[in-house]
Amino acid sequence: MSVVATDTLIAPHGGTLVDRAGDRPRDLDSLPVVTLTGREVSDLDMLASGALSPLEGFMGREDYESVVESMRLASGLPWALPVCLAVDEAAASDRVALADESGRKLAVLEVAEAYDYDKEREAENCFRTTDDAHPGVARLYAQKPLYLAGRVTVFERPEPSFPALALDPAETRAAFAERGWKRVVGFQTRNPIHRAHEYLTKVALETVDGLLVHPLVGDTKGDDVPVDVRVDCYRVLLDGYYPEDRVLLSAFPAAMRYAGPREAIWHAICRKNYGCSHFIVGRDHAGVGDYYGTYDAQLIFDDLEPHELDIEPMFFEHSYFCNACGTMASAKTCPHDKDEHVFLSGTKVRELLAAGDVPPEEFTRREVAEVLIEAYR
Ligand SMILES: [Zn+2]
Repeated sequence: MSVVATDTLIAPHGGTLVDRAGDRPRDLDSLPVVTLTGREVSDLDMLASGALSPLEGFMGREDYESVVESMRLASGLPWALPVCLAVDEAAASDRVALADESGRKLAVLEVAEAYDYDKEREAENCFRTTDDAHPGVARLYAQKPLYLAGRVTVFERPEPSFPALALDPAETRAAFAERGWKRVVGFQTRNPIHRAHEYLTKVALETVDGLLVHPLVGDTKGDDVPVDVRVDCYRVLLDGYYPEDRVLLSAFPAAMRYAGPREAIWHAICRKNYGCSHFIVGRDHAGVGDYYGTYDAQLIFDDLEPHELDIEPMFFEHSYFCNACGTMASAKTCPHDKDEHVFLSGTKVRELLAAGDVPPEEFTRREVAEVLIEAYR
């Protein structure tokens, strides 16, 4: 990629894009090995790419306590969720190798400290519940008992799920700059995009230069639509209904935490590092079950000083096609009764698709429905 000045874009969180990529050390074989979970590998990869700037490694106690308690790093910079590495025991060495579950070594961690942590307190503050039926809380409770902290140097990046869509923050920034975009809105999704979300992205795009469609491709719950199917849905939608020079599709390698409000802030901070000046926050962002109020993921942004995040959240209502308006709309822009609105429950949509029936064009684009029908077959 040619070198393009990216200084017209929003600055990374904390001011500088962190780069924790480095060389494989010669003494690698002599280092103790710590095995990472899938989520920790996702976090490691995002530390390597700068997506978690300004973090340079897994969090130490001071940052961790401050984040859990007050949604800030010890420096005072806003930060919504812990990025920690759980282990059974403190390391006996001042450096350890980090490996994935297959045993492949990915990085070296310079051990700063190991510390114990209160899982229930982390659950209550970060997930707003201590219920182990919550998938994020369940994962937290299943974790090992100590956090191991320190800077990482990553010499082997995990294989991306979609190499063609794998762009690091420096690369999305270069792509934005190359297209002359200054103001870019990021859209987080872990579902196929139907008309409602197409509408949100286009309303947002009307006010800025470009749109980053940034589907999460890390670990999700088993019942979410598989990532390869989703990517096919995004491709046919963008090909058919978005101008090519205004949209970039790239994969967000994070694992879902399902932390609702706090995850909305965390997602926004990551997208700022990718170069987005704006971020779409819908209703129930990153939620699961009934753990969060409909607007909690929007209201939490008020806990920070205005513009402190720099990236601007764009809040959206639930939207739908209104037959009386003859257009996509929401409660903010349409005065009509529910009878006029094209609404299908998630269950109804799945039933239709499983039966090979195409849902109404007002609900989802035919091309997207066809991909999903094929996948359900
Ligand atoms: Zn209407």
